[in-house]
Amino acid sequence: MKILCDTQITINKNGTSGPPRKSKKATLAIGYKNPGKDNAELQILHFTRQNPSGTKYKVNNNIRRLYTNFIKDGKATIAFIDPEEDLMLKCDPIQLKGFLNTLKLGMSSNGYNPKIKAVLGTTAIPDKIVNEVTTLTVKKPSDFPTKGLPKKLITLHMSSVTLSKIPFQVYGLQHLKILHVNDNNIETIPKELGRLELIELNLANNKLSKSKDWLWLQNPKLSGSLSFLDLSSNKLEFFPVEVINVQHLNTLKLNNNQIKKIPFGIKRLKELKHFHLSSNDLHSVPDTLSNMRLAVLDVWGNKFLPINEKLQCKKEKNKFVPQALWIRAIQMVEKYRLPVKNLPWVLIEIIEKATKCFSCDKLCLELFIMERGRCSQFTFVDHLVLDRNYTVYSDLAFCSSKCVNSTFSSDNNNEGGGGLMLMEF
Ligand SMILES: [Zn+2]
Repeated sequence: MKILCDTQITINKNGTSGPPRKSKKATLAIGYKNPGKDNAELQILHFTRQNPSGTKYKVNNNIRRLYTNFIKDGKATIAFIDPEEDLMLKCDPIQLKGFLNTLKLGMSSNGYNPKIKAVLGTTAIPDKIVNEVTTLTVKKPSDFPTKGLPKKLITLHMSSVTLSKIPFQVYGLQHLKILHVNDNNIETIPKELGRLELIELNLANNKLSKSKDWLWLQNPKLSGSLSFLDLSSNKLEFFPVEVINVQHLNTLKLNNNQIKKIPFGIKRLKELKHFHLSSNDLHSVPDTLSNMRLAVLDVWGNKFLPINEKLQCKKEKNKFVPQALWIRAIQMVEKYRLPVKNLPWVLIEIIEKATKCFSCDKLCLELFIMERGRCSQFTFVDHLVLDRNYTVYSDLAFCSSKCVNSTFSSDNNNEGGGGLMLMEF
């Protein structure tokens, strides 16, 4: 991979560093010489305008230290052993993270790692692109460029500029990775936003509300790239279910909305690490949440409650109506543990979204019974933020009343069970 950055070199002889040389615009590349062979060697190439053929640095056993404390500001330093040079980098934080992740992957790999590409034929990113504007901050409406937005923008900040919608030009910015349009008056997002492969999207403090306006999150381009999504302080009365398809989501912020339920399918967000749900109208969380490995779970300011409604009656099943074919199909997949990957995608979707019975672990397909209990300990959450006045209640799903009974009769300590809810698909 290669990135554009500003670099400064400091000669570091015998532990004493000399004055840094002047900062230069540079292209930095990382990759293998002789990939796949016994003599494969991971290298970093450093091109500048003054040095278009590039300087090569060996990676393995040649890095004295990697300084990454200021990575959030887009700064890092690689200290090499031979030559004794410290290479200071400054660039877009997301790009820098990607570069350093590749570097760390290479350093930790024993021998050749096929995930990293060859370095052969790598050249500097042309000057024309180097000089193009990649970051733009619009602080007031008059800052908006009269000639339109630069085509190569990677980062665009348009916060607090009273936007009522995202300007249409933004959807044509193919290189855009970071978009901040927080603190505006945006009510809807058109589906065109889904064409962008954004990594970070900040929509906090806007007026998003309606359920039909989430098509933009269904586009595989955006849902395959997005890692950070902030929807705090909007007017959401529901959890936008499309979010659970954003496979690489690491941070999801939904603070200060009026969300009442989190779907059981939240478990599909396997890479989620930071989940912020403070000051919503949650009465419970799904039990699947307590099994997720999160760095932060913030549920402060929600009024968790046990269920008080009485048992609702299950509808009599008509014996003469055959089961839907898809239900039979999934039951067979489960029973014979058939591999999921060759199934039609419709079935895969249903299996992935279906809730599992808390007791027997079978998929709850036709109906499930919900029981609410005091929440387990969130053992896998590093930092749990909650209001000590409220016990967290979680909803558990069961496939049958037999499974409910077997769980609660064997667990005398459970003080939950305020009521049962029967739900049908
Ligand atoms: Zn069961």
